Amino acid sequence: MKKVKVKELQRNEWQIERDLVVKEGKVYMLKDEELRVEIIQLYHDVLAAWHRGQWKMVKLVTGNYWWPGVMRNVGRYVEGCDLCQRMKNRTEEMAEKLKLSKVPEKLWTYLMVDFITKLLLVAGKDAILVVCNRLSKITYFVATIEGISAEDLARLFRDNV
Ligand SMILES: [Zn+2]
Repeated sequence: MKKVKVKELQRNEWQIERDLVVKEGKVYMLKDEELRVEIIQLYHDVLAAWHRGQWKMVKLVTGNYWWPGVMRNVGRYVEGCDLCQRMKNRTEEMAEKLKLSKVPEKLWTYLMVDFITKLLLVAGKDAILVVCNRLSKITYFVATIEGISAEDLARLFRDNV
């Protein structure tokens, strides 16, 4: 990344951390169209934003980066993605149908299972399997890996929950 001279920074909300220009905790992306598109692409294709539509993308990208026109750039990128457009319509539909879930009557009838991912690798594990019994609220946390197979997950579940 290119260096920016201090004299180009005008207000005190701008800071230089290492070689990065930081504004209110966000990395200011220099005017390098390719690099900006690369960041949008990274969030869109690889990270959690996977085809979640424009606003989710804007939120994720601007959580860490900022540049003039970032919202327009993200918007244009998402508009160009067929799948994003379809997902957008789908989330709107689902939002209308949101209902409170029924309280389960028996223990172990309903479980919530989720993964906490993108963790630092510790002892070969980079994710946590979270299993919560909806009635008792007893929650199990099991260290695992993000790319776990269905078979290994079943084994993990049997041995730990
Ligand atoms: Zn998309």
